[in-house]
Amino acid sequence: MVDYDVVVIGAGAAGLTLAHRMGQVNERRVSPLRTALVEPPRGPSTPPPRTWCFWEPDGGPWDHLLAARWEDLTVVGPDGAEFRSPAEPYVYKMLRSADVDAHVRATADGHVEQRELYVEDVADGPDHATVSAVAPDGDRVVLTARWVFDSRPPSPPPVGRTHLLQHFRGWFVRTPQDAFDPDAAVLMDLRPPQPRRGVAFGYVLPLSRREALVEYTEFGRTALSTPEYDRALKDYCDRVGLPEVEVTAAEQGVIPMTDARFPTRTGRRLFRVGAAGGATRPSTGYTFSGVARQTSAIADALAADRVPVPPVPHRPRHLLMDAIMLRALASERVSGADFFTRLFAANRLGDVLAFLDGDSRFTRELAMGLTTPVAAMSLSTADHLWHTLRSRATP
Ligand SMILES: Cc1cc2nc3c(=O)[nH]c(=O)nc-3n(C[C@H](O)[C@H](O)[C@H](O)COP(=O)(O)OP(=O)(O)OC[C@H]3O[C@@H](n4cnc5c(N)ncnc54)[C@H](O)[C@@H]3O)c2cc1C
Repeated sequence: MVDYDVVVIGAGAAGLTLAHRMGQVNERRVSPLRTALVEPPRGPSTPPPRTWCFWEPDGGPWDHLLAARWEDLTVVGPDGAEFRSPAEPYVYKMLRSADVDAHVRATADGHVEQRELYVEDVADGPDHATVSAVAPDGDRVVLTARWVFDSRPPSPPPVGRTHLLQHFRGWFVRTPQDAFDPDAAVLMDLRPPQPRRGVAFGYVLPLSRREALVEYTEFGRTALSTPEYDRALKDYCDRVGLPEVEVTAAEQGVIPMTDARFPTRTGRRLFRVGAAGGATRPSTGYTFSGVARQTSAIADALAADRVPVPPVPHRPRHLLMDAIMLRALASERVSGADFFTRLFAANRLGDVLAFLDGDSRFTRELAMGLTTPVAAMSLSTADHLWHTLRSRATP
């Protein structure tokens, strides 16, 4: 007899979403599944609260929790040219992780047990997997489960050919006077000075007329120090006409952008989910909607008593395109600012968003590809294919 049918390790985006879906899984089953959601007490091993932005049509499952939503988005080129357009059929949405956490925990049904444990190890087995953990009082705890979904960052991380970092810091700011249009967000502003390799941009997500999240982001090889981010944010605020802001909170992070493969099955009964299970789209760093697709597939499998192997929630052709794009950026064949400006200037915003979230058709993607720096991207494609063939031929 096992302790649980399902153990979910980590209560971040993936763990919370999967735990939330377990209620729907149980509604579809004759016998409910017993689930444990395992997260250590808040401390050095847990990530600080963050915001999750993503796009989807209206009527999504988290709509009642949104901190903000925008129907219009602006992209600003390096020369200040503005491209503002409706995001239709999508809406750009922001969730606060703390709101998702509180909601999932408050609505978890009696079959989802919330355990405060630091997981040290997981072991596979033919009939069940074993999770070894430590309780806050230092006691050792062992849980057994039919299926374990692990969202802890893999250690060591998978290695690919190209590895960049999306690194950023954002300020939640308040202004003394009205300064923002709450209906319109700046998705990407490419006016900050550009690094030699990669790309730098700012963005502004207004939360009211006087409040916004202003963020500075780079795709590059090394993260900055907090004072360096703060300087870049101050410069960016000056650039967008916000000389006097009160910073009420900050968020900072690093998201790996890599063509590495993320195996989602690590044993007969052990799986990886979320960023650890390849839910991050390599070319954008967006993860939240990949998590939604991945956990939905797991829920379907659990409801139907199938082996719940999490899918990598991106199509192979999109992962190939992303690998080529990352190589082009990392090798300095393309200027990131030029690449993104052309992409957004020459295409309908809804089409670009569909592509960036894996929702586009191949013919549309080809047409979009022709609006990027074609010669440089062709060289990177040849480089990528040559490298792939060579590595397959080498035993
Ligand atoms: C600051 C920041 C902002 C981001 N914003 C966006 C965004 O706007 N849109 C988007 O799509 N993506 C965003 N991302 C990327 C991605 O969506 C998030 O990182 C997301 O939280 C990933 O979800 P996850 O569940 O895979 O990992 P996490 O959310 O990091 O969850 C992993 C969980 O595992 C737990 N854990 C770790 N070690 C142990 C252990 N030993 N035992 C038990 N539990 C453990 C952690 O406490 C954590 O709760 C952002 C990332 C960061 C860092």
